[in-house]
Amino acid sequence: MADRYPNLIGGEKMDSQEATANINPSNTDDVIGEFAQASRQDVDAAATAAREAFPAWARTTPAERHGILQRASDELVSRKNELGTLLSREEGKTRPEGIAEVTRAGQVLSFFAGECLRLGGELIPSVRPGVSVEVTREPLGVVGVITPWNFPTAIPAWKIAPALACGNTVVFKPAELVPASAWALTEVLHRAGLPAGVLNLVMGQGSVVGSAMADHPDIAAITFTGSVATGQTVAAACVASRPMKKMQLEMGGKNPLVVLDDADLDTAVECAVNGSFFSTGQRCTASSRLIVTDGIYDTFIDALTRRLDGLTVDDALKEGTDIGPVVDQSQLQKDFEYIQIGQSEGATLHWGGQTIERTPPGHYLQPALFTDVNSRMRIAREEIFGPIAAVIRVANYAEALDIANDTQYGLTAGICTTSLKYASDFRRNAQSGLTMVNLPTAGLDYHVPFGGMKDSSYGPREQGRHAVEFYTSLKTSYVRPE
Ligand code: ADP
Repeated sequence: MADRYPNLIGGEKMDSQEATANINPSNTDDVIGEFAQASRQDVDAAATAAREAFPAWARTTPAERHGILQRASDELVSRKNELGTLLSREEGKTRPEGIAEVTRAGQVLSFFAGECLRLGGELIPSVRPGVSVEVTREPLGVVGVITPWNFPTAIPAWKIAPALACGNTVVFKPAELVPASAWALTEVLHRAGLPAGVLNLVMGQGSVVGSAMADHPDIAAITFTGSVATGQTVAAACVASRPMKKMQLEMGGKNPLVVLDDADLDTAVECAVNGSFFSTGQRCTASSRLIVTDGIYDTFIDALTRRLDGLTVDDALKEGTDIGPVVDQSQLQKDFEYIQIGQSEGATLHWGGQTIERTPPGHYLQPALFTDVNSRMRIAREEIFGPIAAVIRVANYAEALDIANDTQYGLTAGICTTSLKYASDFRRNAQSGLTMVNLPTAGLDYHVPFGGMKDSSYGPREQGRHAVEFYTSLKTSYVRPE
């Protein structure tokens, strides 16, 4: 019998009637545990607990909040191997990637521990005599955190930590596929000293738990990361609810990596392999479009293909694995459908794209590299979220930039070039929230803003000191001493 993990509401373990098995995508015979499935009533209980805990938490000193977040950070970092292994076991990214993610979550908690001490306001002279104006930041109340499966520890950490640092309480709903990492993070934060009700974990279906959060009257704001379609549903619910909710939505990407004739070949190949295929391509920052100029095209494709030949797709926990499995059967099916769509659109499946049978069974897919792609094809327009890259051949930099921007998304955009002129122009004109020069489109620092343009993001940026824009509300106070 697998262990059973209840929800955590008001500081108590609350089991539910329903539970689902958490399955290891590298070995579908391996059940990590049975995780509670919250109901609408559980969401209600969590929101009530968070509302009741809010006034006392909002009054805690910055030093108290700092201490809790820092202790949680220390525990994550000291247990990074164990928790990174758990993450890899449930999500399928390689063990080094899992360990790096847990480490990063620890760093995020530590950063926001520091932010507790740095939060301040402004004192501004009024235009009226004898009056002063004070601008302060106040917490919002209860923040609903809805997260995806691809970064099971880091994304919850970079939403929960600033929410708590700013004095909010939290109702946290992780993605259906990765409750174990969420459970571990919640437990670590409680062990660090979080009072009951300040952070409540409700696991379960988006259509039940997430949707109950998006229209719950006790939840003041929703921070969400997921698909554009779900983001729009959440946004509509936030606007329809009373009071209307503040929202922050991080959604998809169809990120370009431009490779110019003057690029350093090794750098370009490493950026492409890392950005397109590592973490099984399951990153909203993945480079799913490789836009390559004529002069370097053949050499680049040859070198990239040789690099792909040398990659090992295998069990995420096995030493030497470069790329783990796809997260589950339905994502594998989706990846496969796009591989067929690409072929039927006239693109050439240049390398990979086959499923790999292993014993014990897992959701293994060879990375797929498409060539002869044009910007109108669905594989160049729609987010697939798998280890699939579409190469688009262009004549020059101007065409590369046009195609890079020819997308509904705008999360990250990269360029490999040794030309200062093109790098500068690209940074200025790429329509994205993040630009990368001679670096992969994925893999970001934890202390600077993260977010995109167009359909990729809605609302204030995440991470770094700019995160407070979302997690606080400004209050402007006018004071005349007598
Ligand atoms: P993904 O394709 O990454 O699963 P989704 O956007 O479907 O992306 O899911 C992201 C998060 O949103 C998950 O935690 C999911 O359970 C949740 N979710 C799904 N549907 C809804 C909904 N209708 N309302 C709120 N949250 C939802």
